[in-house]
Amino acid sequence: MAEEIEKVKCLIIGSGPAGYTAAIYAARANMRPVLYQGTQPGGQLTTTNEVENFPGYPDGITGPEMMIELQKQAERFETDVRHGWITKVDFSGDVHKVWVNDEKEIHCDTVIISTGASAKYLGLDSEQKYLKLGGGVSACAVCDGFFYRNQEVVIVGAGDSACEEAHYLSKLCKKVTMLVRRDEFRASKIMADRVKNTPNIEILFNTETEEVVGDGQVVTSVKVYNNQTNEKKEIPATGFFVAIGHKPNTDIFKDYLDLDETGYIINVPGTSKTNVEGVFVSGDAADHVYRQAVTAAGTGCMAALDAERYLAAKDASFEVSTSTYN
Ligand code: NDP
Repeated sequence: MAEEIEKVKCLIIGSGPAGYTAAIYAARANMRPVLYQGTQPGGQLTTTNEVENFPGYPDGITGPEMMIELQKQAERFETDVRHGWITKVDFSGDVHKVWVNDEKEIHCDTVIISTGASAKYLGLDSEQKYLKLGGGVSACAVCDGFFYRNQEVVIVGAGDSACEEAHYLSKLCKKVTMLVRRDEFRASKIMADRVKNTPNIEILFNTETEEVVGDGQVVTSVKVYNNQTNEKKEIPATGFFVAIGHKPNTDIFKDYLDLDETGYIINVPGTSKTNVEGVFVSGDAADHVYRQAVTAAGTGCMAALDAERYLAAKDASFEVSTSTYN
């Protein structure tokens, strides 16, 4: 017998800071949110060691711990947090349909998308090894650069992000070596010029990574090669930063939502609204610029408030909770 279709007032997809913050606000507004965690419960922050820039944690907190705290806070107000992966959606009608693990069908009055983005990595075994160990591989200079104060680091990439992050690192680190795989930058001229004019950034063009070398626990150097001459060298470094772009996790929405050319969901400026009524977006799925836990949390709050107002406008019996605006 086919499983009964569940009806949900507010479905939240994703369990990073955006999703959990949306859940806290939606739950406190009596929207009885159901949150699906996805394949990486806690999101990108679970791959970060120490978070020192989220307000309210004067001594810092590890990424995984912070996500457990956020989950507990969402559950305290009776958010229904579930394991499961949303595999398909249909936003063509008044009721928004989603499918969990290709099986369970849910009909939702509102959907808050907080599926985030995934940093791209080179895919080398040695890179993945030290990433998993938390031993010196990072895709976020703003999150992790501080741990490499006065040290030597390597950064890969040649876009605006790589330039911005290399410049950020140059203010903290003794030396930054930037690996650019072609003989030119992809970044805008102004960003590339800033990097070129920073004395403690060395740029190696036509250069790719062969191996991230470490002592079994932390990174100690990076082996690179020139892809024109095949000349090899080993660069001493305690940090290996990868800034080769992000991929927003939005593939399942592409038939219904307006996405930009790289797949980020386009929101109505200043709101969390998408082009489909009742479907809202928060966090990195719509943000290729800031990508911070605190900005994701802020837009999670916006999405819950927008969803609440939408429900109130649609259904007179659903009252906007004044507590939300405290
Ligand atoms: P981009 O896609 O613009 O750049 C990615 C870079 O990574 C490219 O230089 C690419 O090299 C390089 N790369 C990709 N794969 C590899 C690999 N396997 N090995 C080595 N290098 C690799 O991504 P960004 O994140 O930099 O930027 C995304 C968007 O966000 C852009 O539109 C950018 O302008 C915008 N942005 C704007 C900022 C600002 O205005 N302040 C700040 C940050 C981002 P190649 O060039 O050879 O393809």
